Amino acid sequence: MIPIRLDRVSKTYAASPEAEPAISADLTIRAGEFFTLLGPSGCGKSTLLRMVAGFVAPTSGSIWFGDRDVTGLAPHKRGVGMVFQNYALFPHMSVAENVAYGLKIRRTARDSRDERVAAALSMVGLTGLGDRSIDQLSGGQQQRVALARAVVIQPDLLLLDEPLSNLDAKLREETRTQIREVQENSGTTAVYVTHDQAEAMAISDRIAVLADGRAHQVDEPRRIYRQPATSFVARFIGRSNVLPVSIVSVSGETAEVTLAGGGPAITVPRSPSMHVSIGAQAELSVRPQAVRLVAESEAHLQGVVTRVEYLGATLTATVEVGDTTVVVSVPDRQIVPERGQRVGLAIDEGSTWLIPE
Ligand code: ADP
Repeated sequence: MIPIRLDRVSKTYAASPEAEPAISADLTIRAGEFFTLLGPSGCGKSTLLRMVAGFVAPTSGSIWFGDRDVTGLAPHKRGVGMVFQNYALFPHMSVAENVAYGLKIRRTARDSRDERVAAALSMVGLTGLGDRSIDQLSGGQQQRVALARAVVIQPDLLLLDEPLSNLDAKLREETRTQIREVQENSGTTAVYVTHDQAEAMAISDRIAVLADGRAHQVDEPRRIYRQPATSFVARFIGRSNVLPVSIVSVSGETAEVTLAGGGPAITVPRSPSMHVSIGAQAELSVRPQAVRLVAESEAHLQGVVTRVEYLGATLTATVEVGDTTVVVSVPDRQIVPERGQRVGLAIDEGSTWLIPE
């Protein structure tokens, strides 16, 4: 188990000096951690992963595996196991031959090789399928072969680039749980790339949320959900209302704010390290679960219901409050609001989070 350090790493593709870097990052991945790079298409996730793997050279900065500076080291000398979206298996080899490949080129002795291949196949739940040819396997099984092939070499680091993208929804959930179990059992540090926030939240120890070529937040899933550092993070993770507010007063871990739609001031949690000035504009992240439909007399805000979506255990109501749209999660057992209805909204102040402007 080793930590990975990306020391002020950046990559600029274009040759012109004014070109913006595709990605800049300064972060440490802890030993044994399952760390996810999450962000929309084009945010630089793959570029960052390829720099860690050694396929792309950083324009500046250095990359460390433990106390080893690997910045200039060729990919095959880094001790990295990789799993890709398209499996990248050898179609003319059997399952066992595919898994054994990395051991063969490392000249591992035959006996030990067979033992390790059997152990890796068992780890991914494919015991007994070693003699099958690759085209006799389902997509999910093929991805498990790819995982076995990556972990059999006992890498210092496991890199996974959107490994579930080609699988259907149910198989994606099963396979992601299995990936996490294999990583935990092997104790290998893992870096996982995905654009799917639910997937990232489900399996990661920590997540770096990337957008516009930089990390907006590096944190545990729960903190990313509850305490988003930027409005991008609030909107990208789960569904959130990001409401404009004015700061009335600040004290320690809370601030008093007024909502743009009117109503009395409310007291909301904030990070004590965040700088805010009295009278300044800011944004408040309010999850749909933190808003209740109430009588207009008890309301922080009032608006008109423009849409109702039924989701099963809950439904969501979209409410227009002046220029702002507020999405409210309503338990199914409550009275269902109707389109066009005027409603009052009460915000559960403790479940919100203040975002600096
Ligand atoms: P992601 O994996 O998040 O979709 P990428 O790392 O693939 O993002 O790309 C980040 C940015 O760098 C994008 O704007 C992309 O067009 C650009 N880019 C990626 N690879 C290359 C390349 N080989 N040459 C030039 N630009 C590239």
